Amino acid sequence: MKDLIKRLTETYGPSGNEDLIREQIKKEIKGLASEVKTDVLGNLIAVKKAKNSKLKALKVMVAAHMDEIGFIVTHIDKQGFLRVSNIGGIYLHNVLAQRVIFANGTVGTINEERAETPSEAKRMDKLYIDIGASTKREAEAKVAVGDVAGFHRCCTFLGNRAIAKSMDDRIGCAIMIEVMKKLKSSSNEIYFVFTTQEEVGLRGATTAAFGVSPDLGIAVDITGAFDTPDEKPKLPSVLGGGAAIKVKDAGLLAHPAVKKLMIETARANKIPYQLDILEGGTTDGAAIYKTKSGIPTGVISVPTRYAHSASEMVDMVDVKASVDLLVKLLSLNLQQKGF
Ligand SMILES: [Zn+2]
Repeated sequence: MKDLIKRLTETYGPSGNEDLIREQIKKEIKGLASEVKTDVLGNLIAVKKAKNSKLKALKVMVAAHMDEIGFIVTHIDKQGFLRVSNIGGIYLHNVLAQRVIFANGTVGTINEERAETPSEAKRMDKLYIDIGASTKREAEAKVAVGDVAGFHRCCTFLGNRAIAKSMDDRIGCAIMIEVMKKLKSSSNEIYFVFTTQEEVGLRGATTAAFGVSPDLGIAVDITGAFDTPDEKPKLPSVLGGGAAIKVKDAGLLAHPAVKKLMIETARANKIPYQLDILEGGTTDGAAIYKTKSGIPTGVISVPTRYAHSASEMVDMVDVKASVDLLVKLLSLNLQQKGF
């Protein structure tokens, strides 16, 4: 699974620019689904039919987003420096001197104008990307206004932990792919959806959930890890504590029956788990939940340090536990469980 995580996290794919990562995922899931399609917003939907497809099976939508945060070029100046705006939640304090890459392979480094006053520092309009061009014309030969860059970093394993850009949410994509490999048959009809544009407002999941119209929703995404030196131990999820079962975040109160089933399934199978309560941020689960007249939805989260930076860290204990929990959940007859 480490190689899969490396391939996925090292692929380019900021929100709205998911073509390369979608092609990569298509390769990874070849032969694992009965049907694979791409919808209007670019969501990749892989369907695993129920084992007895003559009976009307319960439809489950499992979602992880393919997109990552990035920078969109708004202006190219005379000297060839690129001015940018954010795609998704960029924290200005950790972008300086990071490298970025565009879809065509152009690499640049981020820096900022010298601040005259402290209030001028760390403002998006003071940032620029240097792609090594010396004139506007030279820059325009490589990059155009409207092009989008993502972080450019390799994935590194440190024993059982890994650092990469876009762990959010390629780790969720890797978990779904691993589950597709391990789940031999299910009495549920499962829609594995690799969604687009999550980082700019859960847009892919919104249309995919409407299109799939599932009876049950499960999102797989990252959450915070509240175990770093500056974190008071006030929120429950930490690295290495197991699959984090969502209780709440800024967009979702997990459906009580789904949350209960997740906890019971983890306990019954001795899968390490912890609870996920997040004050800011949300996941595709929030979009699935509010589809049509409401869909019971829960979320399996992977605690992640330094989220929305070029070096997001996860622990393989949590990744493996998330795979195991999702396999066990999808192996249940969810119709008989009352969904
Ligand atoms: Zn995410």
